[in-house]
Amino acid sequence: MTILGTIFAQDWTTPFGLPPFDQIRDEDFAPAFDAALTEARVNIAAIADSTDAPTFANVIEALELAEGALDRVAGVFYNLSGADSNEAREALMRDLAPKMSAFSSEVSNNKALFARIETLWQGRDGLELTPEQMRVLTLYRQMFVRSGALLEGASAERLTGVKSRLAVLGTQFSQNLLADERDWFMPLAEADLEGLPEFVVASARAAGQERDAAGPVVTLNRSLIVPFLQFSPRRALRQRAYEAWGARGANGNAHDNRAIAAETLALRNERATLLGYASFADYKLEPEMAKTPAAVRDLLMRVWGPARTKAEADAAVLEAMLRADGIDGPLEPWDWRYYSEKRRRAEHDLDEAVLKPFLSLDAMLAAQFDCANRLFGLEFREMEGPFYHPDVRGWEVTRKGAHVAVFLGDYFARGSKRSGAWCSAMRSQRKLGGEVRPIVVNVCNFANGDPALLSYDDARTLFHEFGHALHQMLSDVTYGFISGTSVARDFVELPSQLYEHWLEVPAVLERHARHWQTGEPMPAAMLKRLLDAGTYDQGFATVEFVASALVDLAFHEGPAPADPMQKQAEVLEALGMPRAIRMRHATPHFAHVFSGDGYSSGYYSYMWSEVMDADAFAAFEEVGDPFDPATAARLERYILSAGGSDDAERLYMQFRGKMPGVEALLKGRGLLDAA
Ligand SMILES: [Zn+2]
Repeated sequence: MTILGTIFAQDWTTPFGLPPFDQIRDEDFAPAFDAALTEARVNIAAIADSTDAPTFANVIEALELAEGALDRVAGVFYNLSGADSNEAREALMRDLAPKMSAFSSEVSNNKALFARIETLWQGRDGLELTPEQMRVLTLYRQMFVRSGALLEGASAERLTGVKSRLAVLGTQFSQNLLADERDWFMPLAEADLEGLPEFVVASARAAGQERDAAGPVVTLNRSLIVPFLQFSPRRALRQRAYEAWGARGANGNAHDNRAIAAETLALRNERATLLGYASFADYKLEPEMAKTPAAVRDLLMRVWGPARTKAEADAAVLEAMLRADGIDGPLEPWDWRYYSEKRRRAEHDLDEAVLKPFLSLDAMLAAQFDCANRLFGLEFREMEGPFYHPDVRGWEVTRKGAHVAVFLGDYFARGSKRSGAWCSAMRSQRKLGGEVRPIVVNVCNFANGDPALLSYDDARTLFHEFGHALHQMLSDVTYGFISGTSVARDFVELPSQLYEHWLEVPAVLERHARHWQTGEPMPAAMLKRLLDAGTYDQGFATVEFVASALVDLAFHEGPAPADPMQKQAEVLEALGMPRAIRMRHATPHFAHVFSGDGYSSGYYSYMWSEVMDADAFAAFEEVGDPFDPATAARLERYILSAGGSDDAERLYMQFRGKMPGVEALLKGRGLLDAA
């Protein structure tokens, strides 16, 4: 290490080389990034300017190791800036965005470097590469070509400018959203707590304390506002909260995201045009499993029809309930969750407030670890910190006594954390240069409590993120470039969504869903109702998702819309969007699409993956054992340990022997009758 003067310059003598969080100061990051970037530039120049004949080792393997110091500081910083931000970290995020973008442009515009890669590529058949090495070479070359290595002169320069501006816009979009989410809250009088279950009252009071308010408040955090919309009988308050939630990023204040969205779309279209693609969606989908916008639209539209039919039928039932309450219709978006919850209780007698004591965070953690033990032989031992925040817990993961990974869980909502749930690696697995085992983090936004109790949705999120974590922890490849979740975007949700299925295995909840006070197992009738309710309100869920995915696709399919809000309205109008349902993420807070381009024209990929996860779990069902060792071994070999070492379609075929259709998904969501 050459980064003098900061903790990042030193060897970390912590267990498993965990970052020494108690010694990392915010002021260390900027100099550490500067030094790491300098070091990476020196390493890359040496590779590009070498006078030796290019070989796989002196080009590709050298590139794999060139950014070690940068990986080290970035792995820590980007995790902290998402999970535990503050003003210093936000300021550094803004400073880093153009610097990192400039660095990656420099690398991809390095003609000498690309010439060496191109030489290898042209002579690849004589290099005697392993299949994994051939795949890595192919992906490196594709990455360079897609970032403009074949462009010259003014268009190359313009592309660099476009990418750098896009990086800045993405960061601004996220920060605006965080600011709007942090600023707004709605005070509740004691009388306004009517109808709210104890866990909602407790988290409203905790949120009030965090905001220095006089009493309980509703915030825009999903884990508070969603239950408030489900349970509060006060329609005017529901409307106020819902509208504030829907207005994030579109409040006409300093944090307004609408102009940022328009500029982003225009620049993306320009980027695709410069690279010779018909549209940004064509460019973006090329390396995915879906390959083309037409394939994406086809899948989404096959799901849209049955979903909309089901949602309209449900809307009629809910509107009748509204009228029975003496309210003149029509049913509004702020009514849907409230009446849906009432109906759920009437038809499925599944009261979240009664259910949650059986779903403590500790019980569900034990369940997720137990499933991983039965499927893959993994063992989890809780370990001491210090970690980066007092809420964070850590486990050492082993198999047959051998170290596999460190797993961190950061589960509770707080103001310094961005919304949503995610999995990231502070360190990824690889074997090149000596075996490196991963450090993997799951971050969620569950309401804290004593003890913390989850909704069934929360438990599903827990399993989902843990599925991503398994994809990182079981990774067994040589090159970091294709390690863990470094796979096609529309393939990456397969392990996570597949893992959710084990939460629905009756034996898992029978064993782990125990009342946190009495230790009693969940009553059999409650368990049956819970599992039967799995398809409940899937018309709504599918409609709000598919609408968002189709708007995302439309934004990127043709020329960029001058007014994205108008384009959004047109798409929804043409689809016949049910009036009481809105997009899951409206444009001004559609972070998947605008906080970076990770999920731009890629939001569909959750559903693409769901087609596969439904089919993949059927592989266990067909042999009559959800923990069948042979099927689990194939899953690990071809999917969970393989990373991006082969084409996604080929990996899936090796695991399953066939490609799935959309029917398993429609069946799983209870939408087949409506078709
Ligand atoms: Zn996911």
